[in-house]
Amino acid sequence: MPASEEVHLLINSLTPKGRCWCCWESHETANDPLIRACLGCRDIDLQYVHQSCVNRYINALPSATLTTNRAYRHCTRCGDQYTITERQVPWLETLWSTPSLVYRVVGLFLYTVVLTAACSMLLYRYRNNDILLLEWGPYLKIYVRELIAFLLLLGHFLHLVEWQFVYRQCRGNVELKVIAKKI
Ligand SMILES: [Zn+2]
Ligand SMILES: [Zn+2]
Repeated sequence: MPASEEVHLLINSLTPKGRCWCCWESHETANDPLIRACLGCRDIDLQYVHQSCVNRYINALPSATLTTNRAYRHCTRCGDQYTITERQVPWLETLWSTPSLVYRVVGLFLYTVVLTAACSMLLYRYRNNDILLLEWGPYLKIYVRELIAFLLLLGHFLHLVEWQFVYRQCRGNVELKVIAKKI
């Protein structure tokens, strides 16, 4: 155990903090201390909360990360306003920490590669070939090459829309951190 953590735990044992009002545990570490997020609550088990617990709680509140919705950012028992810092999360960090988006990106990438490879191979195969694929009467004639090129373009256009959707999901995220109040 690092010396700084030992000192921290020693101080903690001299000034008991009760339990975290979120996870109900009393254990704390130097990286995840029990802090006072509000000063109004007096009950021994309602005063302190883990830094990580209160951060998770505040970030999970509905619309809590919207700057227009600061009403949520207070203690629901004593009404004391939380002191909060906001951090703009880089879109790559959001992507990396969201498994559903990572799967989506991997799937999209593979799909794009397969589509491009398959269409390129077909186009190469039919490069000197004007054979009609379908001919229904004088009006409907579909040529193999044109059909493949069209599907390729359509597929890539749809992928572009999907990539944009993923990008929109990733950018503009804000992470909130509750700052401990000095007693
Ligand atoms: Zn906790
Ligand atoms: Zn409170």
